[in-house]
Amino acid sequence: MLDVLTPHFHREDRPTFSVVVPAFNEAEGLTNFHQRLVTAMDPLGTWEVIYVDDGSLDSTRDTVEFLRRDDPRIALISLSRNFGKEIATTAGLDHAQGEAVIVIDADLQDPPEVIPQLAAAWRLGFDMVCARRRARAGETAFKRLTAHVFYRLMRHTGSVRLPEDTGDFRLMSRRAVDAVCKLREQHRFMKGLFAWVGFPMTTVLYDRAPRVAGGTKWNYWQLWNFALEGITSFTVMPLKVATYLGLAVAVLSAIYGAQVIVKTLLFGNAVAGYPSLMTVILFLGGIQLMTLGVIGEYLGRIFNETKRRPLYLMERFQPSRVRVEAPE
Ligand code: UDP
Ligand code: MG
Repeated sequence: MLDVLTPHFHREDRPTFSVVVPAFNEAEGLTNFHQRLVTAMDPLGTWEVIYVDDGSLDSTRDTVEFLRRDDPRIALISLSRNFGKEIATTAGLDHAQGEAVIVIDADLQDPPEVIPQLAAAWRLGFDMVCARRRARAGETAFKRLTAHVFYRLMRHTGSVRLPEDTGDFRLMSRRAVDAVCKLREQHRFMKGLFAWVGFPMTTVLYDRAPRVAGGTKWNYWQLWNFALEGITSFTVMPLKVATYLGLAVAVLSAIYGAQVIVKTLLFGNAVAGYPSLMTVILFLGGIQLMTLGVIGEYLGRIFNETKRRPLYLMERFQPSRVRVEAPE
């Protein structure tokens, strides 16, 4: 394992850039994507691209294999089933050899034309160069709002600072990639992991285009779970909220209890009080279930981590055939 603290070291036998592309049912747009990637990457130096077929149900894998016949810079990882974008990305990072690694979506929402700018920032010495969306074209106002609320929440409760309006589209130096690869948790909130690593970071602005082909694989339920993942894997704030909520309810109940006692002493017991009793019982029951739920979220994650399963299984790894001749 390479020392993560080593500054930009240089190895002659590796390509300068690795591009990691997680792909799930992307056959339709992949040839086009590769074309644009080649155009963007070729002027930059030696490079390879690692397509991770995340158990696609369409011909994504065949498409990549077909492209790979003529292009030795293509590597293909075929996962044994669909593991999700985060893990597909991790598989790609694990196999990337480049001195700098770029993570990019296959749907052309992250334009490959931005990569030269990312590379330029890396050459200035930044370890993590995030591409930041200027506009969220083709997304609903509701999605924009929820995204905004999520980033705000993470910023105020989390221990890591997430750059707003950045996705996974970014460039990482070798030492940053090595550091990310050391984080083997099952619940992979990649944006959080990238931020956790630290190292000098900068952002590059770009316009995010709407998808060219296929549809987004995210529905609101998955987005909700994604947000939950981000919160529960990077902050214990909800547990604290549960504590203080309990405390507040206890104090209020005590005040109310005192009021009931005083009233009974002064005016006698009029055997009313059924509605207030019911209200209090239901309220407390609700709070208890909610806090149990919060604890359950964390418990479930601990359960998953303790199994210590490998993050993914590969059906096949077809490496790139980039040969970089070491200078005499
Ligand atoms: N992706 C993946 N596995 C999945 C879902 C998505 O590898 O289970 C890939 C997908 O092919 C694309 C990227 O992750 O390259 C982003 O997916 P998508 O466009 O659906 O997400 P969004 O852009 O809406 O965040
Ligand atoms: Mg997309």
